[in-house]
Amino acid sequence: MEIVQGLHQLKTPMTSPALPYVMPYVFECSDGITLFDAGFGTPEAIASLTAQLAVLGYEPKHIQRLIISHAHPDHLGMSAWIREQSPDSSLVMLEREWQWITDRWLDNDAWTQLSDQWLVLHGVPQAEIEEAQTAGGSTPAARRPPLRFDIEPDVKLRDGEVLEFDRWRIQAVWTPGHTPGHLCAYELNHRLMFTGDHVLPHISPNVSLHADQEGTSPLSDFRDSLRKVAAFDVDRALPAHEFTIPDLAGRCAVLLHHHDERLDEVRHAIGPDVATAREISQRVKWNTGPFDDFNIFMKRSALGETLSHLRLLQDEERVRRIEGDGRVHWARV
Ligand SMILES: [Zn+2]
Repeated sequence: MEIVQGLHQLKTPMTSPALPYVMPYVFECSDGITLFDAGFGTPEAIASLTAQLAVLGYEPKHIQRLIISHAHPDHLGMSAWIREQSPDSSLVMLEREWQWITDRWLDNDAWTQLSDQWLVLHGVPQAEIEEAQTAGGSTPAARRPPLRFDIEPDVKLRDGEVLEFDRWRIQAVWTPGHTPGHLCAYELNHRLMFTGDHVLPHISPNVSLHADQEGTSPLSDFRDSLRKVAAFDVDRALPAHEFTIPDLAGRCAVLLHHHDERLDEVRHAIGPDVATAREISQRVKWNTGPFDDFNIFMKRSALGETLSHLRLLQDEERVRRIEGDGRVHWARV
């Protein structure tokens, strides 16, 4: 679909039933094309992207530049393939995101160990993690999508920096929350905001505090990032999933309200006594079903969501974090 002249919204398939496709954006330039996000690196997604580019009259070798909103596989997953197809193309992301993925992802064993210890710390029984490991296929490491990080970005943007190519002027908008270095891109000439996964029109983006993020507050960052993009003069917002957002500020207000309600729900679920993040996660509602039915990968994700809310409540002095006996408990204040 053509958004404005020379800018196209495509759809490439992915495997999640909740998010069946990723929307790459194609900017036409005099010397080729620039992509904002590209999709999963699966053969199906690659074939789909190639076919849609062909309709526009381009081949993968015409890709001059790939700008990545964030380093999740449905956004970054094609970068190695694109580099093979168009060896002179440049990869662009926020410097902060590159720092995060190099810190977090490069050592598999260390990550698995850290993640398993963290599950135990927050109340998941050791036996449940071991069971998932022997059952195979559902441990955090095994479920982690295969990613190639052998490509260092050619351009590492800073917040506010403007990238100009042909008739397009893209301002980098650092929006931490969904990931620490998430990039939204504001196209100044047409007042378009590319929101990646930071703002989606229907679902609420995942905002988790994970094992490597103890001491940070991703939900606080996320809420600040919502206010940040809502303040831009925007004609339309173009997310990476679902569909175009006509009213970005309105959508940001709904998401802020959603998290206010979720904060109350999480605090209430602690009950009159103390509870672990796992127990709290068992008591709150999930769109995808009850917590106890989740596999260990989904439990990790849900725990991360619960913890991002607990961390914010702690900063607001509405809950207390209690450490002891190798477990973290929470109490209402
Ligand atoms: Zn995504």
